[in-house]
Amino acid sequence: MQESDRKTVSILGATGSIGGSTVDLLQANPERFAVAALTGGRNAARLAELSLALRPDFVAIADPSRYGALKEALSGSGIEVAAGDEAVCEAAARPADWVMAAIVGCAGLLPTLTAVRRGATVALANKECLVSAGDIMMREVAAAGATLLPVDSEHNAIFQVFEQRRRDAIEKIVLTASGGPFRDASLTEMAGKSPAEAVAHPRWDMGAKISVDSATMMNKGLEVIEAAHLFALTEDRIDVLVHPESIVHSLVAYRDGSVLAQLGTPDMRTPISYALAWPERMQTNVRPLDLSEIATLTFSAPDTARFPALALAREALRSGGAMPAVLNAANEIAVEGFLSGNLGFTQIAELVEDVMEAADPSAPGSIDDVIELDLEIRGAAARRLARRATSGGSPPDTDSAIEIGAGRL
Ligand code: NAD
Ligand code: MG
Repeated sequence: MQESDRKTVSILGATGSIGGSTVDLLQANPERFAVAALTGGRNAARLAELSLALRPDFVAIADPSRYGALKEALSGSGIEVAAGDEAVCEAAARPADWVMAAIVGCAGLLPTLTAVRRGATVALANKECLVSAGDIMMREVAAAGATLLPVDSEHNAIFQVFEQRRRDAIEKIVLTASGGPFRDASLTEMAGKSPAEAVAHPRWDMGAKISVDSATMMNKGLEVIEAAHLFALTEDRIDVLVHPESIVHSLVAYRDGSVLAQLGTPDMRTPISYALAWPERMQTNVRPLDLSEIATLTFSAPDTARFPALALAREALRSGGAMPAVLNAANEIAVEGFLSGNLGFTQIAELVEDVMEAADPSAPGSIDDVIELDLEIRGAAARRLARRATSGGSPPDTDSAIEIGAGRL
């Protein structure tokens, strides 16, 4: 195969969990893919290791204080190195046929948008950017003629069975949820849960932020909002079903009574490979699904009394305007607060609710508006968090705070 036949790909957030699964697929298929650019938050050693293995033309690290370490580790390699948020956007702007958007949180908004604006095919894992700026993002995708391929396992599942040409025949979609590590816990039990317990997800091995979101079920709420944008559906047509085995990744219900679902072993390499090979399919090393071994699949309705975050996200979607961005920014701060030991587990949703109740911003009209709003709400949420900590509303006594929360790996 000629060099020019290889698909060129870039990974935004290469040092994370989704980044790692993407790298796995690239390394298993060196003849099919050439790497244009890689980015990381602050883990220079991991980014250097990946760069030496994948040989991108350009590599960017978001944290400028890590530039020296990265530059030194890549000296003599011929790989161009840069640092800072603008460098991450430059990585997204470099020509590549396919871009994996796998930065966590609203930090991924501008880099993802940069790739969208040059009309790239963007594999979207970074759900927070659709939650905060869904309308604007979808408009930009259409204007640039970009292609957005959902990577989130539920959305990827729906994408696989959603008959675009027959959307009139679709009644609703159903997102499955594992229920997270505290699926059967009471609210009192949940109140005492530590960060280490919250990130120990029973089915998926993921970054810290999304693991906590799964434990509160805010993740499913963010996914309802994500689905509303990706599939142009109103909130009442997006159901959630708790399915602890995480085998049925989501379903589409048609008006004739047919329900189509996508199933598979819970392994993000399957949805990532679908996006990577789209519109074809490619071989992966994912463990084949053996339903006779699994034998039983169970389903139940979500309990929004124990998982209020899901209801808050639905409320934000129904309210529209700035509310989804408010929900997302408050949640990012609350999760950071929890992971650093400054907020109890059940206080995450409480903080988000407080911030939503107090906020009354107008709908953002541009990306700059979203970024400004995000900063403003983060500030408001951080102030509330600090007040809680000093007024005795501090978290239960746990010494297992882990330093993985505050963003950049
Ligand atoms: P992660 O924490 O493992 O990785 C996040 C990546 O973003 C890292 O490369 C990190 O260095 C980078 N990053 C963090 N802060 C940054 C900043 N300020 N600027 C630039 N880069 C920064 O997270 P993950 O689990 O890989 O998740 C990534 C995204 O994919 C999230 O939006 C998550 O919700 C979504 N997602 C993840 C999974 C999963 O299985 N892990 C599944 C579905 C969706
Ligand atoms: Mg998901």
